[in-house]
Amino acid sequence: MAKAQQTLTFYQSVENYFEKAAPHTGLDRGLLDQIKVCNSIYAIHFPVEIRDPKTGKTSVKVFEGYRVQHSHHRLPTKGGIRFSNHVNQDEVMALATLMSYKCAIVHVPFGGAKGGVKVSPKDYDEETLEKITRRYTYELVRRNFIGPSIDVPAPDYGTGEREMAWILDTYRTLRENELDAAGCVTGKPVNQFGIRGRTEATGRGVFYGLRQACDHVEDMKKLKLSPGIAGKRMVIQGFGNVGTYSAQISQGEGDALIIAVGEHDGYIYDEKGIDIQKLIAVKKETGSIMNYPASFKSKPEDREKVLELECDILVPAALEEVINVNNAKNIKAKIIGEAANGPITSVAEEILLKKGILIIPDVYLNAGGVTVSYFEWLKNLSHMRFGRMDKRYRQQGREGIIGLVESMVGRKVPEDMVHKFVKGADEVDLVRSGLEESMINSYNITRNIMKEKNIDMRTAAFVNAVQLIGQDYQSMGIFP
Ligand code: NAD
Repeated sequence: MAKAQQTLTFYQSVENYFEKAAPHTGLDRGLLDQIKVCNSIYAIHFPVEIRDPKTGKTSVKVFEGYRVQHSHHRLPTKGGIRFSNHVNQDEVMALATLMSYKCAIVHVPFGGAKGGVKVSPKDYDEETLEKITRRYTYELVRRNFIGPSIDVPAPDYGTGEREMAWILDTYRTLRENELDAAGCVTGKPVNQFGIRGRTEATGRGVFYGLRQACDHVEDMKKLKLSPGIAGKRMVIQGFGNVGTYSAQISQGEGDALIIAVGEHDGYIYDEKGIDIQKLIAVKKETGSIMNYPASFKSKPEDREKVLELECDILVPAALEEVINVNNAKNIKAKIIGEAANGPITSVAEEILLKKGILIIPDVYLNAGGVTVSYFEWLKNLSHMRFGRMDKRYRQQGREGIIGLVESMVGRKVPEDMVHKFVKGADEVDLVRSGLEESMINSYNITRNIMKEKNIDMRTAAFVNAVQLIGQDYQSMGIFP
């Protein structure tokens, strides 16, 4: 039964979404219960010696950490590691659950998992963060909660490729002779067994998903919008990894008009559009987006008001539960693209759906990260860069075709056309192409279910995911 109270935890919200989808799946209750629960939950406390950078004095602080593996229907399990002061077991369970569905939706053969450490990276220097990351990894290794065939972490809120490199190094130190050790974590730096295109992948996937949604003429007509992402007025909340790339690529490749960007210290607004390249430079140089010369700048305490601006597409890309029962009625966007995980509570969603807003759900829209993580993991297991074997071979074949055409028509093909046609795919071209294919395919499958069953897009995405996971369990012969 779906829980109806106004204040739900994040995990209860995800349970609500599951229960809303369950009757449309045609699966037995026993099987649904197995799919719904978190299979393994590991909660730890570990000590780390900390040095006060000012006094040089050392002390020991105990940190709280989690790793949750939601579903073992496919192995390894996969999901990011979050560093935030808000980390708790309920949140990690919710995020691990979403990972299982996300992987199923984009046909990535992993079970879902998630990890977190209750720590604000802003409060500690690099040396301390490295100690925390390494100690957390050690605890995961000790309990067999990490490994290329067991459970493979990735970056999430508050972590990035630096932390992934520390995780890999710690793992390799402890598992010296493991041939596939590099596949124990994804989102690593390219020179440390990473893959080109992973850092931008979630934001790029958000762009492909939004573009695909905007290309459906019938759906745009219903929202009284013209088709195509070009010119759409977009608002972004959260200018970290996902928000920055979502904005940059939507503007650079999609010609979207970014009219507002929000951060923890306020939001900036400009009806003429914000130059995202310039905003990235301003944030890098000064540490804050608020130094960008926008026509309007909010006070820090009004930062959440960015969500209530009138726009075509709202992209929450910071944290969960930012659109809730308190502000849902004030949301004016026509489309909400959930780049963050769980930015809308299940109670708020009912209000938004009644207003006719198209919600493109997190389990689909931010799956670009795990899709490219899958490519990275495959690269690590194959011990070879994509494109290495066949790039030259294909180039030579195409040069042969050009030569043949030139000899048949008796003139030279222009140089720029030759270059475009002959150039073989580099790793990043293949990664982007694979990502684009996944995002387009999965959008169309989800949309078809939505139309066929006359349900909202999140419920359709959950129906698809639950049925696919259900098929895996059924093929094991455990469930009818
Ligand atoms: P990040 O740490 O790189 O960026 C998050 C940004 O949000 C930070 O710049 C932070 O200052 C800002 N922020 C915090 N509180 C805010 C507030 N109240 N208002 C506005 N901005 C605020 O994290 P990220 O990796 O970009 O993750 C963002 C979201 O996307 C999370 O929900 C995460 O789970 C989800 N996600 C991330 C990935 C990935 O590959 N990194 C993949 C899938 C989903």
